[in-house]
Amino acid sequence: MKIAHTIAETREFLRPARSAGKSIGFVPTMGYFHAGHLALMERARAENDVAAVSLFVNPTQFGPKEDFGQYPRDFDRDACMASDAGVDLLFAPPVEVMYPETSLTWVVVEGLTERLEGASRPGHFRGVATVVAKLFNIVQPDRAYFGEKDFQQLQVIRRMVRDLNFPVEIVAVPTVREEDGLAMSSRNTYLDPEERRAALVLQRALARAQELAAEGERDAAHLRTAMQEVLAREPRARVDYVSIADPETLRERERLDGPSVVSIAVYIGKTRLIDNARIGPVA
Ligand code: AMP
Repeated sequence: MKIAHTIAETREFLRPARSAGKSIGFVPTMGYFHAGHLALMERARAENDVAAVSLFVNPTQFGPKEDFGQYPRDFDRDACMASDAGVDLLFAPPVEVMYPETSLTWVVVEGLTERLEGASRPGHFRGVATVVAKLFNIVQPDRAYFGEKDFQQLQVIRRMVRDLNFPVEIVAVPTVREEDGLAMSSRNTYLDPEERRAALVLQRALARAQELAAEGERDAAHLRTAMQEVLAREPRARVDYVSIADPETLRERERLDGPSVVSIAVYIGKTRLIDNARIGPVA
């Protein structure tokens, strides 16, 4: 596996493959790999001639009070895991390579980013869309792989690609979970054992909404209340939002009259966790 820290090295490594007509699959990440990241890498490898992964904790997508400084990092471990997963190129730039000067140019996806994570984390998606656009220009992948775990991010990137005509296919990969159902996340490492147990409440809240929907409940307000009740029973949990929305527009639904996505953001102690699930009639 080639490790590149600069844009020039990355382009140089990929140039011969591209000239030979080989396809490039790309997985953007912030590192501290877990089985969710590995699922994306495996898909990229299986569906393309070359699998490229970026590892960059992107400062522009963190708010001033967020965890940029504490975000878990372990380059050597990540490099071993990516290499074992059959990745061909690991692009791990320092901040100065990605942002040599203060950016004056940003990618802003409107509308979609004003709700949910965007409402709770102002500027987050501007940072995400901008760094992903930069990475797409550096790597020029044929396909790029994103996890459904971050469902709104996936939809924002899809929209950016459509609106700005990036020649890349976006592939969604289902959420990988721990055995007990907790969605894998690099931030799970922040949880102490009691919080780790309490974090299962996210899964219980989503399951409750799915169960009621399966029994025929169509009133979205009732479903949100039922999830809030489940979350309220866990004293370590503090709800940020509970949403039942149209998966394309992310607008809140009144009734489950089409495919919907239920998304939640919950603080467990100081750690903010998100999860989502599909409910309602299948498209
Ligand atoms: P991150 O390093 O957290 O920015 O995530 C990098 C990519 O991995 C994003 O596309 C995430 O949606 C995806 N991802 C993170 N956790 C999971 C998971 N549990 N299952 C599937 N994909 C995930």
